[in-house]
Amino acid sequence: MAIDDKVSAIYDELLKRNAGEPEFHQAVAEVLDSLKIVLEKDEHYADDGLIQRLCEPERQLIFRVPWTDDEGNVHVNRGFRVQFNSALGPYKGGLRFHPSVNLGIIKFLGFEQIFKNSLTGLPIGGGKGGSDFDPKGKSDREIMRFCQSFMTELYRHIGEYRDVPAGDIGVGGREIGYLFGQYRRLANQHESGVLTGKGLAWGGSLVRTEATGYGLAYFTQEMLKHHGESFEGKKVIVSGSGNVAIYAIQKVQELGGTVIAFSDSGAWVECQDGVDVEKLRDVKEVRRERVSAYVDEVEGAVLHEEGSIWDLPCDVALPCATQNELNGDHARVLADNGCSYVAEGANMPSTADAIEVYRERGIHFGPGKAANAGGVATSALEMQQNASRDSWTFDYTDERLREIMINIFKTCASTAKEYGHEGDYVIGANIAGFKKVADAMLAQGII
Ligand code: GLU
Repeated sequence: MAIDDKVSAIYDELLKRNAGEPEFHQAVAEVLDSLKIVLEKDEHYADDGLIQRLCEPERQLIFRVPWTDDEGNVHVNRGFRVQFNSALGPYKGGLRFHPSVNLGIIKFLGFEQIFKNSLTGLPIGGGKGGSDFDPKGKSDREIMRFCQSFMTELYRHIGEYRDVPAGDIGVGGREIGYLFGQYRRLANQHESGVLTGKGLAWGGSLVRTEATGYGLAYFTQEMLKHHGESFEGKKVIVSGSGNVAIYAIQKVQELGGTVIAFSDSGAWVECQDGVDVEKLRDVKEVRRERVSAYVDEVEGAVLHEEGSIWDLPCDVALPCATQNELNGDHARVLADNGCSYVAEGANMPSTADAIEVYRERGIHFGPGKAANAGGVATSALEMQQNASRDSWTFDYTDERLREIMINIFKTCASTAKEYGHEGDYVIGANIAGFKKVADAMLAQGII
């Protein structure tokens, strides 16, 4: 059978067996497209059902999470943990608490995580979890009770050598604290390596909070450098205003760029003179308010409730909000306005159409599984510190992160070139991420 037909047959079967999971289909389609190029050279990667095994999670857990609100009403949410692939190390990936969460979303995230984690060069497998719980508007005590109920089921499935969750959308330092507390109580042991993103006094790592955003900035800086440019004098749009966006904005501005816009799910803020990062942190991290509060307090910032953040002319676009936030039409506007670099801080923020436009219009594009790998990479550094009962300095950890991101960019660039698609970092990331996992799976037999 021709490679194209072989891969199409695998994809058709996957669509049938995973009906109603469009985000998972999208993530797999993009990877399979790149794998055709590998299979043309090395057909043995299609042996022994390797591709089918890679697309089927090793284990999928779905569980009930009941909790009681401050008025005494009982709510029932659904919890998920998809343990996708552990060929390279224990399952590793975040937990997302957001009303949009369903099995398909967690599977797409877990699938992406396999390749992302492989690209870091560190010994971590891929997994993801979460719940359709909506933390918005909940009191601190409600969040705590929810986290405790969630962990009461999850704790038996995780562990330092088994599966190591962390944060994602809706799960930050506060939630990791409540989750760790409940794990420690149920397991009756202080097992630091079971979660990452912990507080500094109880096994956390310096730089973990900043890592995804900083890592994105380091990756993009390396991509700019590769094309003979730098952040100096560049206008940059960063969508979102959560943990990834805030520290991407901070580092981009330190590296000489001007961030001219950011957003939340309800509005976007234009700030042609740059972002006051300390003010943004105060609004989002301390007061947990909307971006409109930033506009009320910072001169020159303009709130937009209409139109799209991607309508604003810029040189570099860094989508850091959520999946499929940037579509083909947005990408065309970005290109028309002269934007020549896009790198993803969020997971799969560009639709397949948008990626097509980047290719057609010559936009240099860093896909999320490479560009946002700094978060999970620093989680793996946290695991190293936990395993050696050590804690590293900020500068040492930051330097390790920077080296990892530069390495990831170089790997994507050299792999794309090796396979005849120079400059296509999607193909580079997918192939490099895949080969390491695939070689490990082939060596470990049919399991
Ligand atoms: N949620 C982050 C990601 O998408 C980090 C996961 C982790 O640190 O395990 O990669």
